[in-house]
Amino acid sequence: MPPQVLEALAEPIIHHRTAAFRAVIAELAGQLRQVLGTSGTVISMAGSGTTAFESSQLCLAKPGSTVIAVAGGKFGERWQDIYDAYAAFLNLKVVKIDHPWGQPAPVDAIDRALQEHGESVSCVAVVHSETSTATASDVQAIAAITRNHPSALLLVDGITSVGAFACPMDDWGIDCLVTGSQKAMMLPPGLGYLGLGPRALQRLEAIDAPPPGYAMNLRKWVKAAAKDDSPFTPPVSLLRAQRVACAMMLEQGMTAVHQRTARLQAGTVAAFEAMGLKLASASPSPSVTGAYYPDGVDDGLRAQVRDRFDVHLAGGQDGRGAKWKGKVFRVSHMGYVDEAMTRAGLEAIATCMADAGYAGADAKSAVAAFDASVSAAAG
Ligand SMILES: *Cc1c(COP(=O)(O)O)cnc(C)c1O
Repeated sequence: MPPQVLEALAEPIIHHRTAAFRAVIAELAGQLRQVLGTSGTVISMAGSGTTAFESSQLCLAKPGSTVIAVAGGKFGERWQDIYDAYAAFLNLKVVKIDHPWGQPAPVDAIDRALQEHGESVSCVAVVHSETSTATASDVQAIAAITRNHPSALLLVDGITSVGAFACPMDDWGIDCLVTGSQKAMMLPPGLGYLGLGPRALQRLEAIDAPPPGYAMNLRKWVKAAAKDDSPFTPPVSLLRAQRVACAMMLEQGMTAVHQRTARLQAGTVAAFEAMGLKLASASPSPSVTGAYYPDGVDDGLRAQVRDRFDVHLAGGQDGRGAKWKGKVFRVSHMGYVDEAMTRAGLEAIATCMADAGYAGADAKSAVAAFDASVSAAAG
């Protein structure tokens, strides 16, 4: 976390039902609109990314309708599970499109499902950057086909794309874009964010039955947001600190932030290629790179790089579509991370792999490949 953000977190608490705090909410909403690329309503919700996405699922689905949920990883599977959890209450037909882990969401299969189920479809839920598989999907294309079906809203899990690479909500025609505080947004865990466009806001107005939830009822949040307020006690410190983190990003410019993410990713891929590693994804996400462990190296690598070099690697995950625990590891390029940190991380990985007996890894050539890629990208 940036030191400026940590400092903001340490400030004394002010009361949240005050003009001073409403000014914080208003300022943050303005910044988040720029980060998400929307002129719509933006909500900061206590909880995590899952809380925010779940609220969009339960409040935007029309009772008695069909919802399409696309999964090729752990998080897409979670959104399917959440629709299942509410299906009886909301009388939903849940159409699940499953695609192989490490592959992008299949645009043509989504198109076919939209045509097959026609006007009964009220929502399509997709993951932009499937962090569990380090895979990016073509949300722009999915938004374009969804727009051919006026009844269908597009809900996008942008939890590791927003603030890391381009996901312009209004330009692409996304109805609801969700992210969370602890990924690219440079904050501790504890907040989820939702951008709601005009069609999503109309949907909230049009559904007259209360959703199966109270604190996650988006109508309460939208009503409060219109008055720069929060329906329930907000995490004051987090909201104030997010304002500081957003200011840092906006000062650099979102394009520059996206370019840094892309540079770190390209450099990491170059280093992994130099090490002879196989990437986990056929459509790598700019915000996270996953690779299979080479022969002779197991998941113990992560404890090695942590204990020897103080570098944290994410492991693989298990889901319905695949079991990747112990098979892959993942490196983040989002948020408060730079060339020096990434280079040090790659050096740690290569060193520990070499020490484990993997002949392909050599820290010097891995770092040289990273440096060459980064300086080529910097022009
Ligand atoms: C982390 C993550 C989530 C879950 O967010 P939480 O804040 O842990 O609830 C969902 N989707 C993606 C793509 C993620 O990376």
